[in-house]
Amino acid sequence: MSRFLSSRLATLEAYVPGEQPRDRRYIKLNTNESPYPPSPAVLRAVEEAAGSLNLYSDPTALRLRRAAADVYGVDPEMILPVNGSDEILNFAFMAFCDSRTPIAYPALSYGFYPVLAGLYGLPRQEIPLRPDFTVDHRDYLGLGHPLVIANPNAPTGLCLGLWEIEEILRANPDSPVIVDEAYVDFGAESALPLTKKYGNLLVTRTFSKSHSLAGARLGFGVGSRELIADLTAVKDSTNPYNVNAMTQAAGVAAFGDNGYYMDNCRAVAATRDETARRMREMGFAVTDSRANFLFVRHPEISGTALYEQLRDRGILVRHFSRGDIEEYNRISVGTPEQMEALVAAAGEILRKH
Ligand SMILES: *Cc1c(COP(=O)(O)O)cnc(C)c1O
Repeated sequence: MSRFLSSRLATLEAYVPGEQPRDRRYIKLNTNESPYPPSPAVLRAVEEAAGSLNLYSDPTALRLRRAAADVYGVDPEMILPVNGSDEILNFAFMAFCDSRTPIAYPALSYGFYPVLAGLYGLPRQEIPLRPDFTVDHRDYLGLGHPLVIANPNAPTGLCLGLWEIEEILRANPDSPVIVDEAYVDFGAESALPLTKKYGNLLVTRTFSKSHSLAGARLGFGVGSRELIADLTAVKDSTNPYNVNAMTQAAGVAAFGDNGYYMDNCRAVAATRDETARRMREMGFAVTDSRANFLFVRHPEISGTALYEQLRDRGILVRHFSRGDIEEYNRISVGTPEQMEALVAAAGEILRKH
């Protein structure tokens, strides 16, 4: 730390992204990327946009908002494209939270929420899960302050039904409710249609997991015109050209090819369910994930040992060093071939153990 850092940030605990090692080729199952490449139309669009990189990108991202509006079934004025959905979370915390009222979220969820709360000095209300890791939506009724819920949740993959989300919205009419739908395309029900009915709902989406664009950094906030106008003002006061020209072009082309991506999501979901079945046969406890990852534990081997021994065999998974989930690993769902290799390696590790 330099002696110049604001005292406000002296205790900041930064987000730690999953490792991206370059020392050898891994089967990479640790950061929930898509195992499938972008569609050919996306590659062509990026190449064409690259020819105009001397010009600024469109700060209103109008074509991209129109393309998103068609697929999401809302008006373009209800959408703010962002530089990865982490950016819309940041904007929302900046816009709607302050140090006098807490921000609520499940005690086990996406690690970025406590980081942002720390960044803005917000009191946190971390709401415990049930012992089986499910979120009890009744714990979120009538909170009277902002809240954020990932649906499906991470790293468990478990989801709430739309009726439960709607009850939360109805029971917190005067507070923003952020529903983080990073994984919704893999098998949960989206709250997007509710954005027309509830002015307090902000849905966040990302193209990092379902649309093979993690490296391009593209996400969206979707909500009422008023919410999006506030968030756009924050965007314009932070980084008006937040989504670069190649990424905007990639996003338009990806929405145009949405069928290709939805097919990929269905393939990933099928691979997930087949892998879960085989891992349960091997004695793993596996949550009922609706996302593109599995959250697993084996009674005979520690979470750390499994993580390390898979890594020695060239397979990277995500292990979180926090007490309550020490025995677990989160495994992204790759291609059937990659998951075949994972199951074989796990079987070998268990036999040798
Ligand atoms: C991956 C992830 C995000 C952020 O994704 P971006 O790459 O920033 O778009 C947001 N929320 C959850 C729950 C995630 O897992």
